[in-house]
Amino acid sequence: MSRNRSRLLVLFAAATLASPALARQEPSCSAPLGERPQAAGISIVPEAPGADDLPSLRVTVEATGHFMRVFFDEGSERAAWSRAACLGRQLDLLTAALGDPRRDAEWFSVVFTQDADYIPPRGPDDKERWPILIGADGGFPDMSRRMVVVTMPHEQVHDFQKRSGAIPPRWVSEGHATWVGLAITEQLDPAAARTDRDRLSGDLARSTVPANLAQWGSVRPRPEAIMRQVSAEDRARMQADPSYMPSGPFSFTSADLIGDESNMLARYAASLEVFEELEARHGARAVHDWAREVTAGSGRITPDILAESVSTHFGERLDDLLGDR
Ligand SMILES: [Zn+2]
Repeated sequence: MSRNRSRLLVLFAAATLASPALARQEPSCSAPLGERPQAAGISIVPEAPGADDLPSLRVTVEATGHFMRVFFDEGSERAAWSRAACLGRQLDLLTAALGDPRRDAEWFSVVFTQDADYIPPRGPDDKERWPILIGADGGFPDMSRRMVVVTMPHEQVHDFQKRSGAIPPRWVSEGHATWVGLAITEQLDPAAARTDRDRLSGDLARSTVPANLAQWGSVRPRPEAIMRQVSAEDRARMQADPSYMPSGPFSFTSADLIGDESNMLARYAASLEVFEELEARHGARAVHDWAREVTAGSGRITPDILAESVSTHFGERLDDLLGDR
């Protein structure tokens, strides 16, 4: 074979891999019920149930020791076995993408259950356990298929973010989880990733107000807490004109305060946009390195700390990065 021809073949192979239209589903994420698929480098070992608890599978990435538990009730055992390798594959992809320096870390658990009212144990030593509902026939409702390949990669990124107790601003934690989670989903189930991207861009297109990302999750008073402290006249004017605010001072108890969770769907999409723009300008590796460093410590990450890290890592201003989002 001539040198030119082999180079052409390599180029063709690269183009094939890069094309989402031709990307393939990860076999361990699409196996039919009743099968127990394996994934390279992932071990799956049944564990005896603890007192008053369900049995589980311990799913471990052999090379790094990272692991999670996959619990199941009686009617969901086949479903658990059919997706355990897929969940292990996620941990392997996640630790590589995130540049996770740890070894032997335990990640969020899941529980395959037919009980829609299942309540997970929430003791201090219990890892958070995400329920994946299984149908009366032991099979997967569509929502639960999505849960395995879309929701779990996203939630596992949150587990990584919390590894040292960091509390990032909401747009950072959700943008990071959505950006990394979708990249993992793309490798496991390209069609599911496409559907989710379409959903996110639809949410953003339908939104008529700015996402106001910097305020997402910030604390503000409930409207009724202000209403009760103003005159009847001002109250009537506030109801007629939502932009009108009488001058203070007002006093609030902790029960009067809520986190700003308005316009949430568009905010997920706008946060993803920020991460994708950073990726386009600086490359995925640089964005992963920044997110890992930002979440390496404990406690609340203030806007000042964040602005400093954006400047150090990217040479950009946080205000410009968020723009009018
Ligand atoms: Zn999230």
